[in-house]
Amino acid sequence: MVAEIIDGVKIAAELYAETARRVRDYVGRTGRTPVLATVLVGDDPASRTYVRMKRNRCARVGIESRSVELPADTTTAELVARIAELSADPAVDGILLQHPVPGHLDERAAFEAISPEKDVDGVTMRSFAAMAFGEPGFQSCTPGGILRLLDACEVPVAGRRAVVVGRSPILGKPVGMLLLARDATVTCCHSKTVDLPGLVREADIVVGAVGRPELIRGEWIKPGAVVIDAGSNPGNIGDVEFAAASRRASLITPVPGGVGPMTIAVLLAQTVQAAETR
Ligand code: NAP
Repeated sequence: MVAEIIDGVKIAAELYAETARRVRDYVGRTGRTPVLATVLVGDDPASRTYVRMKRNRCARVGIESRSVELPADTTTAELVARIAELSADPAVDGILLQHPVPGHLDERAAFEAISPEKDVDGVTMRSFAAMAFGEPGFQSCTPGGILRLLDACEVPVAGRRAVVVGRSPILGKPVGMLLLARDATVTCCHSKTVDLPGLVREADIVVGAVGRPELIRGEWIKPGAVVIDAGSNPGNIGDVEFAAASRRASLITPVPGGVGPMTIAVLLAQTVQAAETR
């Protein structure tokens, strides 16, 4: 068996096109343009690049981005105050705090200053809780993107065994919750998991969310399983041993070009949603 490749670039492009249509409708209806505020603290080059990519994408779908740049020595109190201002500003629909923020800052406190209606990156505890309770709210973007990939490929989820390798609050845990909400039987693995190979071997759907190059070996993949690799390690290497896994899986995401492109696409879809529902 040779797995079919899940084309994240194409699926993200479809989502961008849908978002651009929704933005046009929104502008036509209300006469105002949705606004995403991006907050960048310090001058980490990778973070700067990510923010620039997000702002470029905003421009391409017709969302206005407002850039807030703060110096590296900003205090937690100053950052929280700036985000609280954006939360209260009626001109702003969504807020993105680029993370990780510099190490001296309390990132959680900064996230929690984002009002839930503007948490289009899905990083607050309220958004997480809403996701866990199945209540309306914004999803964490990469997990939301993973579910969209599965839907775009019409992968049945209900009743299937899903193994998520990784349990971070922005990736592994929310992916597990979203799969559970779709009636998968979910196992979340982590660094203390005993017999990871045995658990992966049972999985109909495997999600790599670890950040360790090729930790998930191809020979562990059950024949016909669907493999989603969210890992992004230096040298464009995923968490899954791609060549060997694609000889056993039915569907697999490449790195790059699989999960990665979905994250910003979901961010912008949630920004227009924030504008529509305000
Ligand atoms: P993280 O916060 O470092 O979490 C890594 C998780 O992997 C932890 O839960 C850890 O377990 C688990 N883990 C570590 N070693 C393990 C092992 N040997 N066996 C099983 N589990 C193990 O990382 P993250 O932020 O979730 O990111 C994970 C990866 O996804 C990274 O490569 C990142 O770049 C990528 N990512 C991509 C996107 C995107 O495509 N847009 C978005 C977000 C993240 P413990 O909890 O026990 O420590």
